[in-house]
Amino acid sequence: MTGVRINLQRGLLRRDCTRGCASPAAAGQQSLCGQYACKQGLFCWTGSALDGTNSIAAIVGCADSRVSPELAFDQGPGDLFVVRVAGNFVNDDGLANLEYGVKFLGVPLIVVLGHMHCGAVAATVKAIREHAVLPGHLPELVRAIRLAVEIARTHGHGDLAADAMIANVRLNASRLRISKPLIGEYVRAGKVQVAGAIYDLASGKVRVVD
Ligand SMILES: [Zn+2]
Repeated sequence: MTGVRINLQRGLLRRDCTRGCASPAAAGQQSLCGQYACKQGLFCWTGSALDGTNSIAAIVGCADSRVSPELAFDQGPGDLFVVRVAGNFVNDDGLANLEYGVKFLGVPLIVVLGHMHCGAVAATVKAIREHAVLPGHLPELVRAIRLAVEIARTHGHGDLAADAMIANVRLNASRLRISKPLIGEYVRAGKVQVAGAIYDLASGKVRVVD
């Protein structure tokens, strides 16, 4: 399990291209693969994804377009099993997805990945502060994040949105660790690890917070 934890550190799992275009950006060469991320020198898809998934982790990420889990962790196709929802919380649908990843894909690590300047958390904070009722199904989003805001109000350090974002990550990581009947059992058996982490939009770095 220790090795999986280390994988959270940015860049340690960078893959070299096997088509001869490794680090094209650094070498000033044109990417042979044509993949956007390969052109950026981040990774190259070698086609191994066609052989099936062998994901090293499941990510519960925000739907925010600025936060791509594959880019945040320098991973390629087939490496991450990603569940994304605005506010990176786990509802029943998300839990079912994660249970599939754990039970049928053998994912050994689940990372709840929050991020700085999360619009979903900020909108929830604003709605609660102003006692506003958002249109459509958005109250469901507020309901899912509300407890994290309440925790941040009591135990935070002054920036309610930032504190709530971190509380939301820890809350959902905790929920997963004890979720019944499947993932909590895998965690207790040492087959799955659950971590909480924060992605910094400015630096591109990931910090483990739980
Ligand atoms: Zn967000």
